[in-house]
Amino acid sequence: ALLQEVRTRFAPSPTGELHLGSLRSALYNYLFARSQGGKFLLRIEDTDQTRTVPGAVDRLLHTLDTMGLQPDEGPGVGGPYGPYTQSERTALYRENVQRLLDSGAAYRCYCTRQRLQLLRRQALGRGEKPRYDNRCRHLSEEKRNMLEERGVSHVVRLKLENTDTPFTDLVYGEVTFDVAAQEGDPVLMKADHFPTYHLANVVDDHLMRVTHVLRGVEWQVSTPKHIALYRALGWDPPQFAHLPLVTNPDGTKLSKRHGDASVESHLQRGVLPEALLNYVCLAGGGFKELDQTALTSARELTEKFELSRVNTSSCRLDPERLR
Ligand code: GLU
Repeated sequence: ALLQEVRTRFAPSPTGELHLGSLRSALYNYLFARSQGGKFLLRIEDTDQTRTVPGAVDRLLHTLDTMGLQPDEGPGVGGPYGPYTQSERTALYRENVQRLLDSGAAYRCYCTRQRLQLLRRQALGRGEKPRYDNRCRHLSEEKRNMLEERGVSHVVRLKLENTDTPFTDLVYGEVTFDVAAQEGDPVLMKADHFPTYHLANVVDDHLMRVTHVLRGVEWQVSTPKHIALYRALGWDPPQFAHLPLVTNPDGTKLSKRHGDASVESHLQRGVLPEALLNYVCLAGGGFKELDQTALTSARELTEKFELSRVNTSSCRLDPERLR
């Protein structure tokens, strides 16, 4: 069989500045693609209109460019390439939602906000995690027509089954999250006809022929939903590798309060891009024989990168090392 080209992507949501944790994700995707002779892509995940911050895309692109993390491919010909942008691809998501509705793998859900809030309050009252009870899976044709006639808006949900089996995480090993039992059927398309993160992410990773998804461990719980979605669409899922959380030296989440986590603020202070790249590599593992006392070039980082060496415990970044 022909060897498949390794393809990775960095897929930020333009909700603010690029921070050190995201920089690490971008860098590891870049290094892994390079080390395998593959391609690194960039995708702006901007379908959540309520979270998109004006100007954030331009700032993200500028920062990534300064850091030397340019994509190897993108829309257009020639290059230098820009990112793919999800808000320009909404027809593709709608098309695939329609396929899922037609095959019966997804369904329209008319539950009101009030009903979902009630379910939520009841679950919390019982000390349980809120879960959608999949009620609209079982709507009769008649009831549905009636709701449509009344102009009741709907979302589209995926029928999620059998998420109690593990998937293989290239960093964490066998991982199980029984999201079907814990959360119920996930929303794929919102009432405004915009896709959720899950749908757009899966459709794009497939269409962009991404072979390896490297992303922060906070997304690991979404992976069983994504795998179910690939299957429902008749596609093979890519491989998944989650990267451990990046924290302050005391184990707390990186935030403004503990020194600045934004990449741009460090650049503005005069920290060299190469020093920042080395900095986010320090605590997470992923390299053979890395000399931590000297600056390592991006080329050398590429040569030394090994996915199997990425740690599973959270990476503590010590800002003292940047002074
Ligand atoms: N848009 C997500 C983020 O902002 C991407 C997660 C992923 O890589 O799948 O981190």
